[in-house]
Amino acid sequence: NEPLLKIENLKKNFPIRGGVFGKKVGEVKAVDDISFVIQKGETLGLVGESGCGKSTTGRMLLRLLEPSEGKIIFEGNDITTLSKQELRKIRGQMQMIFQDPYASLNPRHTIERILEEPLIVHGVKEKSARKKKVRELLEIVGLNSYHANRYPHQFSGGQRQRIGIARALSLNPKLIVADEPVSALDVSIQAQVLNLLKDLQKKYDLTYLFIAHDLGVVRHISDRVGVMYLGRLVELAESEELYQNPKHPYTQALLSAVPIADVDHKKERIVLQGDVPSPASPPKGCSFHTRCPLAMDKCSVERPIFKEVDKGHFAACHLYG
Ligand code: SF4
Ligand code: MG
Repeated sequence: NEPLLKIENLKKNFPIRGGVFGKKVGEVKAVDDISFVIQKGETLGLVGESGCGKSTTGRMLLRLLEPSEGKIIFEGNDITTLSKQELRKIRGQMQMIFQDPYASLNPRHTIERILEEPLIVHGVKEKSARKKKVRELLEIVGLNSYHANRYPHQFSGGQRQRIGIARALSLNPKLIVADEPVSALDVSIQAQVLNLLKDLQKKYDLTYLFIAHDLGVVRHISDRVGVMYLGRLVELAESEELYQNPKHPYTQALLSAVPIADVDHKKERIVLQGDVPSPASPPKGCSFHTRCPLAMDKCSVERPIFKEVDKGHFAACHLYG
C-alpha cells in the first residue's frame, strides 16, 4: 500500500544573521532530519512544545516553506522537485488550516468572497457555479448560506474556524495540515470543531496531519502520534499504544503533565529540569540529555537513532536496543 505522503530525511535550516552587514553567522536546525509516512485516510498527530519544528514541518509538506534537504513524496511523486507552475496544479489537493483563522481571513472581504477566491484561482469561471459551491461549503461546516454576505468579525472564534475549514475544503483536497486548529478556541468549542474534522474526514476521505502542543488534544483524533523535540522526531506510535506505553522519557514527561482520562498513570508527575535549549545550539548527542531524568554517559556523546523498538513503535533513545 503506497502511503499518501512519505517524508524522507527532511531538514530545514534557518540562517542566523548578525553584525552590521547582516552576515550569516550561524544556523538554526529547525527541522533536523525527520522521516515518516502518512497513510491514506489516517490522521497523524504531531506534538511538541513551541519551537520544536512541528509547524515548520507542516508548512514544508505543502511547500509553503522550502525544505533545505529531503524528499516529500505525495502520491508517489517527489514534490520538492516541482516547479511553481507544476506545484500550482496539485496545490488544491494539499491544504492548510491555521491556528488563528481570523488572521488568515481578510477582514474587508465577505465570507462569500473569501470562499470564492480559491475557486477563481483554480479556474471555476462561472459565478453561479462558485456561488453554489460556497453555499455547499458553508453547509458542510455547519453554517448557513445567509452567512455568505457577512464579514469575518461578525463570527465567533469557532465559526471563524469553520470558515477556515470550508476554505480548506473548497478544492476537494486529499491532505489537510491542521496547525493547532483548536488551540485558540474555548474548551467547549474545541470538541465541536474536532468532531467536525472527524466527520469531514469520513465523508470526504481526508488525510490529516494534525499539529498540537498538547498530547490531550490529539489523542482522540489521531490514529498515530509523533512527538518532536528540538527539530527531531523522538517517538512515533499508534495513538493508544503511545498513551498507554510511552517509551521516550520526553513523551513520558509530557504525558505525566497532562491529565488524560483513562490513561493509567502509575507514575508520578515527571517535572523536567531546565528550559528547552536554544535550537541555535542544541546539545550534542541526544538533544534531550540536558533535561532527561534517565540520561546516561553515552547520551551526551552519541545521537540515538530513531528506530523501531516495538512493533510499529519508534523511538530515538539509548534505553532501547
Ligand atoms: Fe534520555 Fe539518553 Fe534516552 Fe536521550 S538517549 S532520552 S538522554 S535516556
Ligand atoms: Mg506553531
